[in-house]
Amino acid sequence: MAKITFLGAAGTVTGSKYLVEAGGKRLLVDCGLFQGTHDLKQRNWNNPPVDPATIDWVLLTHAHIDHTGYLPRIVHLGYRGPIYANAATNELCQLLLPDSAHLQEEDAQYIGKKGYSSHKPPLPLYTVAEAQAALKQFKEIPRAAPFTISPEFSARPHDAGHILGSSWLELTITENGKQILVVFSGDVGRYNQPILNDPEPPSRADYLLCESTYGDRDHPSGSVADELANVINDTVKRGGAIVIPAFAVDRTQMIMYYLRQLESQKRIPVLPVYVDSPMAINVTEIYVRHHEDHDSDFTSLEQGGKGDPLNVRTVHIARSVEDSKKINDVTTPCIIISASGMATGGRVLHHLVKRLPDPKNTVLLVGYQAEGTNGRALQDGAKSLNIFGQQIPVRAQVISMGQLSAHAGKSELLRWLSGFKVPPRQTFLVHGEPVALNSLRDAVTAQFKWPVTIPAYLQSFDLNPS
Ligand SMILES: [Zn+2]
Repeated sequence: MAKITFLGAAGTVTGSKYLVEAGGKRLLVDCGLFQGTHDLKQRNWNNPPVDPATIDWVLLTHAHIDHTGYLPRIVHLGYRGPIYANAATNELCQLLLPDSAHLQEEDAQYIGKKGYSSHKPPLPLYTVAEAQAALKQFKEIPRAAPFTISPEFSARPHDAGHILGSSWLELTITENGKQILVVFSGDVGRYNQPILNDPEPPSRADYLLCESTYGDRDHPSGSVADELANVINDTVKRGGAIVIPAFAVDRTQMIMYYLRQLESQKRIPVLPVYVDSPMAINVTEIYVRHHEDHDSDFTSLEQGGKGDPLNVRTVHIARSVEDSKKINDVTTPCIIISASGMATGGRVLHHLVKRLPDPKNTVLLVGYQAEGTNGRALQDGAKSLNIFGQQIPVRAQVISMGQLSAHAGKSELLRWLSGFKVPPRQTFLVHGEPVALNSLRDAVTAQFKWPVTIPAYLQSFDLNPS
């Protein structure tokens, strides 16, 4: 009998991994890293609950590390099968997995210096070489067409509108001549956002796994363009700079898109924009190339001959550390976009050291700021930050824009779910914190009257044909 086991993203938002077994074969959907608390991160180090050598295939919904970042580990531990991903997901993983390995190596070094590791010297979870080894097992699948994995499994990806290449999946399991359809939502994106398509609606499923990241709330409404224009124009009047900590994938491209539009509409002056993140630059190139993911607004801008919609008029790209340092010498109004998005590390820290003490400047927070990060401290009104062992006074303006999330808010999740013409026989809510999971369960039960289950970590369920 077919069955599914929740190896991650059960009761939490990270570590997405779902093992589907049928006809003696094993398919793993997503292979994400656990992130966040010490206990969650420890799971990355534990012996996996299923021997990776016994898994036959891995299928990915999208490139985010909480869906792919455990791949180097399972390959190291003996997984030898293909890793199925579409072209854009593959290209993003070529950047993100070595970067994740690099961060693991840095963490190990840091722990080594502090001397609180049980390993001597402390080991990274995986190395850049191990990430490269995993990337060799990637096999390209269609963006939006059915394909057969084996006699037991076939799949059809649909655009999820979350980041470039993101998909939700229809997985058809065939056992004893009978079929079972399982839908995996992956991460569901937003409606009416620039660059990417809206999430494609689902239509039917026997079993559904739905993410619940924002299952308890909606994003703030209000025009991103209006707010961004106000922030920029106010800062320019003061003669200051705008520092935007932004994750290299998706947030940076979204900001560039809005800046370009505001420039074209002459709602902001043409300012020098410094993109100070080598990864963001490479990701932007991938974003521009994959036309199959672009929405009609983006395509018409591009075909209108008005230039690259992801490029402002005066962009300066800082590839080297030297280029990055030179941005400190800029004393006239400018925009600096740099990672990391929550100001936990990366080049943005140097810009904060330089720009935070001056009330002329603005720090614009455009993504989710997790507890314990510099970004959250700024959001919560900290009067100073400790960066590189220095107390940096916060005199710059700090402004948060919550509208720019890449995840569907609660009502957008319900809108996506309303696509089902026939209720799924069982809905599993995953990829959410307990408050979000419970809130979405209550909403789904009230609005659709579907049976909903919130699976626990490592829990298994039989999948029956109808
Ligand atoms: Zn994601």
